[in-house]
Amino acid sequence: MTATHVPGLPVIDDGWLISTNPATGEEAGRVPVADEKAVIAAVERAKEAAVWWQGLGFDGRKTRLLRWRTLIVQRIEELAELVHRESGKPLADGTIEAVAAVEHLDWAARHAKKVLGPRRVRTRILVAEHSGHLEYQPYGVVGVIGPWNYPIVTPVGPISGALAAGNTIVFKPSEYTPVTGQWLADTFAEVVPEHPVLQAVHGLGDVGGALCRAGVNKVAFTGSTATAKKVMAACAENLVPVVLEAGGKDALIVDADADVTAAAEAAVWGAMTNAGQTCIGIERVYAVEGVYDQFVEAVVAKAGKLRTGEEIGPITMPRQLDIIRDHIEDALAKGGRAVLGGAGAVQAPFVSPTVLVDVPEDSSEIREETFGPTLTITKVRDADEAVRKANDTPYGLGGSVFGKKNAIRIARRLRSGMVAVNGTLTFVGMGNLPFGGVGESGFGRIHGEDGLREFARAKAITVRRGPSLLPAMTFERTPAQVQQIVKALRLLYGRKP
Ligand code: NAD
Repeated sequence: MTATHVPGLPVIDDGWLISTNPATGEEAGRVPVADEKAVIAAVERAKEAAVWWQGLGFDGRKTRLLRWRTLIVQRIEELAELVHRESGKPLADGTIEAVAAVEHLDWAARHAKKVLGPRRVRTRILVAEHSGHLEYQPYGVVGVIGPWNYPIVTPVGPISGALAAGNTIVFKPSEYTPVTGQWLADTFAEVVPEHPVLQAVHGLGDVGGALCRAGVNKVAFTGSTATAKKVMAACAENLVPVVLEAGGKDALIVDADADVTAAAEAAVWGAMTNAGQTCIGIERVYAVEGVYDQFVEAVVAKAGKLRTGEEIGPITMPRQLDIIRDHIEDALAKGGRAVLGGAGAVQAPFVSPTVLVDVPEDSSEIREETFGPTLTITKVRDADEAVRKANDTPYGLGGSVFGKKNAIRIARRLRSGMVAVNGTLTFVGMGNLPFGGVGESGFGRIHGEDGLREFARAKAITVRRGPSLLPAMTFERTPAQVQQIVKALRLLYGRKP
């Protein structure tokens, strides 16, 4: 690497993608870059492997997925250390991220059969001579494209669901965290050495684009909204279905009867964990006027204790530093005030915790994804105003509500895929809850039952059980039989409800 290399910026050299630590510039590892031909070849191999993988059935796949789970648990320190070296993420955050990944892997492995396996459905009167059967069949090969901010749990979510459903995977990790991605593929191959069921291909965005066009049967993308649109356009060329997990601008609401200390603790963690580089990170708070002052004071006291280089790691993607600086400057220029950090908070590669108040709703700090350890706190009259402002964004990923009497009602009104009540980000810790957004945050779901069904096609089968008493679907029916069918219909459904 040259002396001018920006720490953390991926480098491609002689066919290798070199990954470096954003704090130190030290090499974290290198992986071979795939060209279009190599991506197509990986998908071809995955297609063949899919025959074997599907043939194992739910039980055979479950055993292997649980073996992979156990291997990850046994080597969790190694994985956290790797993600720390590669992305700068503090070790404790890396460890908790791996714990969440294990939860999703375990849940998907154990529940795929029940959620997706064949079942009888009740017959319906008009075709009473037929029985109904439903099952969910795998797509084949799923392309998984991942981001760098949670390089373990974001790909392991869709990978677990897709594998448990019977698909094989070609995974394109972020160019900022390819070594962590390769670690996932390598450890999987240790427990499933027979066929390339989970492969990683590496490179910049063009390799992700090539994967969308390489003959995969579905794409699970996690990353920015701008890239999500490109992925969807690429997939549209061959009508490849997509699940898109994109950006967010999540809000936390503090209602009048909230435990203010708990709300402040959650807001600080939700906003600053992983240096604020969290899709479901809290970027805005709307606190009602009765608790506002106390809340701001508590947040500043708690966030003020966090140290860069300790709890707050470096910004993984060097160019994000400019975006964070721009947002803070825009907020201050438009009349916002920094009650912690602020102008000068960005000291590459770190950003010190920044809490901003009185920030106008049209500033970029309120409207766009900042992806840094910054938080705006806005005073509102009541929960209605809080909900209106929280929802006034094209994004809709997660959110959080602190309060007692009305908290769940407020949670339901937030335009988002997930909400934590008296907590924050907690929904990502439950393997049995779906995860995904609305609007510019994407669509489709990973995790939970919906996350399993996302990676399988519903297949309906009817089976004749006996002769038709009132044949409807045949040219051999008589006019009298048609009349009888109408009569039966009137008896059944002809009365006003
Ligand atoms: P990104 O969009 O820059 O990159 C994501 C992935 O897409 C990378 O692997 C990249 O190489 C690939 N890519 C880039 N261009 C492509 C193209 N034209 N075709 C196909 N693939 C392409 O996102 P990022 O910076 O890695 O991640 C941060 C973003 O991800 C944030 O916006 C964050 O909110 C979001 N995110 C969302 C979730 C979620 O679950 N909703 C989770 C984590 C991160």
